Amino acid sequence: MPFTPFHMGPALAAKAVLGRHFSLPIYGFTQVAIDSEVLAGYPFRRDLSFHRVMHTFAGATAAAALTLLLRPAIARGMNLWNRSTKATPGSPWHMEPQVSPLAAVLSAFGGAWGHVLLDAPTHSHMEPLVPIARGNPLNGMASQREIIGWCVGLAVVEGSAMLARSYLKGSRTAGKGPHCRGAARSSR
Ligand SMILES: [Zn+2]
Repeated sequence: MPFTPFHMGPALAAKAVLGRHFSLPIYGFTQVAIDSEVLAGYPFRRDLSFHRVMHTFAGATAAAALTLLLRPAIARGMNLWNRSTKATPGSPWHMEPQVSPLAAVLSAFGGAWGHVLLDAPTHSHMEPLVPIARGNPLNGMASQREIIGWCVGLAVVEGSAMLARSYLKGSRTAGKGPHCRGAARSSR
């Protein structure tokens, strides 16, 4: 599978810890940018295990930089999502298009470098340290099942906590009357 939702598990954990200093959409964009390499190579190789340039720390750094350059377009995408889903600030599905520079950097580089760390143990042909060193020192450090287990576990625990917090925050805001509803803010 070229784009895996399991990688969003660690992102949910990071979001729970860092709050507004982490952006799930920006993290998610780096996952798609890096795995586009797998999809782009498929018509020529008929092989979904193609993890080369973008699946190195150098390539991932370029993907993070590209993501930061595309921040305005990503923000427009978030606005479009909010309008089409009618997600308002405070709702669990609202995406906050206003992302601070710190949050953007943490999310882009955390997502890009984390992607390499999550893929390298189970893809023996990856060479994450190219051009500095050949080979894959991370290969075999964890099985596919272990990595997916950790990702799903983090997603379930942290995702549940986030939804509960969002629900409680919404309940408190609603209880204060309509003049306070605008104060609710989602920090996706
Ligand atoms: Zn990948």
